[in-house]
Amino acid sequence: MAGIDELFQLPAEIEDFRASARAFAERDVAPLVEEAERTGTFPLELFAKAGSAGLLGLQFEERWGGSDAGLLPDMIFREEVSRVCAGIAAGLGIQGQIGTAYLARFGSDEQKERWLRPAIAGEVITAWGLTEPDAGSDVRSIRTTVEADGSGVILRGRKTFITNGPIAGAIGVVAKQANGKFAVYMVEAGDEGYAVDRTLEKLGCRSSQVGELVFDNVRLDESRRLSPPDGSEIDEILDVLIRGRVLIAAASLGVASAAFDLGLAYAKERTAFGRPIGKFQEISMKFAEADARIAAARMLTYRAAVLCDTRDEVPVRECAHAKLVASETALWVVDQMMRVFGGAGFMQGSVIERLFRDVRYFQIVEGTTEIQHRILAKALGL
Ligand SMILES: Cc1cc2nc3c(=O)[nH]c(=O)nc-3n(C[C@H](O)[C@H](O)[C@H](O)COP(=O)(O)OP(=O)(O)OC[C@H]3O[C@@H](n4cnc5c(N)ncnc54)[C@H](O)[C@@H]3O)c2cc1C
Repeated sequence: MAGIDELFQLPAEIEDFRASARAFAERDVAPLVEEAERTGTFPLELFAKAGSAGLLGLQFEERWGGSDAGLLPDMIFREEVSRVCAGIAAGLGIQGQIGTAYLARFGSDEQKERWLRPAIAGEVITAWGLTEPDAGSDVRSIRTTVEADGSGVILRGRKTFITNGPIAGAIGVVAKQANGKFAVYMVEAGDEGYAVDRTLEKLGCRSSQVGELVFDNVRLDESRRLSPPDGSEIDEILDVLIRGRVLIAAASLGVASAAFDLGLAYAKERTAFGRPIGKFQEISMKFAEADARIAAARMLTYRAAVLCDTRDEVPVRECAHAKLVASETALWVVDQMMRVFGGAGFMQGSVIERLFRDVRYFQIVEGTTEIQHRILAKALGL
């Protein structure tokens, strides 16, 4: 059928973009991964490098330094960097999505000049502070508050698990107002009363910097407020972030593909009982199944990205499909590849061992697997 190929192929310019994203990942990121993951530090110079390569503003308007190219290329960037290192991809990825999406949508020109332009250039690191010690999935029950005080507000509370928090210069913080509605305020490193309480040690994605942040009577004037004066419903705030689920799906694809490629090479080279282990049906079937599952997850992810770029309405259901299927696929694929490696996969320091730890990140962030189930069940009227 004429045209059917075009329907399921990425445009040529997107494939060209993939080549440059992959070159960035292999040339600039790969040499830094081993040390960054071993020491649990983020190679900060990558922000400026990614910024000057135009990789941090793919979704944002040209007048702020972005390229207005959409979510699709941003998704490819996330997939390609995640193939090399999911932790570094998470840190860089915040900059182009949850750290800046709300600012890009609701910020004034002055606010975009102040935080979005330098974020796109990689000069200021951003973070998004929503989760609290007592409120993760249940975001409505956050306890961080803003209280009116003269011409500004006083911010009080604590945020946890915040990616880039310990290294961020500007953090979008979600807080509850006296009227019960929610508002986002920009807090800057150096604001009096704001502190990074601690950097958290994690199972995986160790190079990404995730921390607990404290806001102890931080005084903020109106220039820091991104939300309307009356505040917003929490769903209006979260709406802006739903597209970010596609990027977590893309990162899952990156990790699944990296594990698959490693496993395939090992299955061809490792011998047992006088033949490469890949010649045993029990092993080859894992690759056949993984190949099909990755292809299916990729199709859902790319479709969700295209819908995000072409529809005015946020494709909530399709974003949930992509996030749910890709993150669970990655978990399954990495688990299967661990088996292919036998004892070698269990040893510290191997790449498959890192992927096995990293892959657990994807079923948690941007709404857990259970929350994606709830979203889909609700869409089905259940
Ligand atoms: C590495 C990492 C980076 C992160 N980065 C950020 C960040 O940058 N900014 C930020 O704001 N947050 C961030 N988070 C927080 C993340 O969004 C939350 O961890 C996530 O939303 C889950 O919240 P929780 O951990 O409090 O788990 P909980 O909400 O306590 O959930 C615990 C378990 O209960 C299940 N559950 C909860 N409610 C329901 C329900 N209604 N129905 C069925 N099951 C349910 C969950 O699925 C989960 O299995 C990060 C987390 C991690 C691990």
